[in-house]
Amino acid sequence: MKADFFCSAYRANQIPQRKEPKILIIGRSNVGKSSLINHLFQNSTLARVSKKPGKTVSLNFYFVNNRLLLVDLPGYGFAKKARSSKEAWGPFIEGFVEDQQEEIILMLFLVDSRRELSAEDLTFLNWIKIKKIPLLLIFTKCDKVKPSLTVKNKIQKELSSLWQGCIEYSIKQDQGRQSLLSYLKQL
Ligand code: GDP
Repeated sequence: MKADFFCSAYRANQIPQRKEPKILIIGRSNVGKSSLINHLFQNSTLARVSKKPGKTVSLNFYFVNNRLLLVDLPGYGFAKKARSSKEAWGPFIEGFVEDQQEEIILMLFLVDSRRELSAEDLTFLNWIKIKKIPLLLIFTKCDKVKPSLTVKNKIQKELSSLWQGCIEYSIKQDQGRQSLLSYLKQL
C-alpha cells in the first residue's frame, strides 16, 4: 500500500473537490499522528513530525493507492495555539466534513495510550456521532503502557453502531501496522 502527498489546505477555498472516498485521521496534538502516517506507509518524509504541537492549522491530503484520500486533520488541544487558530479550527473542519460528508467512509481516531479521555475528546466524539462517521480507534505509543480498557469501552459505548474496532499501535515496536494495513485494504 502506498501513499503520495497530494496537497495541503489552509483555508476553505483551498480544499480540493475530489470525489474519491475519504478516510480522516485525527487526534490531539502530539498524539503521534505524523509518526504513525510515516510508519504506516514506511516513508519518513510523508508527514512532518513536529516537536512543537499544533503550529499550523491545515488539512493534509494523501492519495492511498491512487484510490482513497487520507485526510490528516489538524490536532485539537489548543493550549499552545494562537487565539486565531483556535477560533479557526471549528468552522474550517466542520465546514469540510459537512461539505464532503458523503465521501467520508472512516475516521481514524488516535488516542495516546497514557491518557484518559479529556472533555475535549468527548465533545469531539459526540460530534462524530452526530455526523455518523464510522470510527476506528487507534491507541498510539503502546510500547509505553498498555492502553486503558475504560477508554476503549467508553468510546465503544458512545459510538455504538459507528464503532469499527480498536488497534494498538507502536512505531517503536512495529506494532499494529499490519492490522491497520489489512483494515484499510479491505475498504
Ligand atoms: P503529532 O503531533 O500527533 O503529529 O505527533 P508526532 O508524530 O510528532 O509525535 C509526538 C511525539 O511522540 C514524538 O516525540 C514521537 O517520537 C513520539 N511518538 C510517536 N509515536 C510513538 C510510539 O509509538 N512510541 C513512542 N514511545 N513514542 C512515539
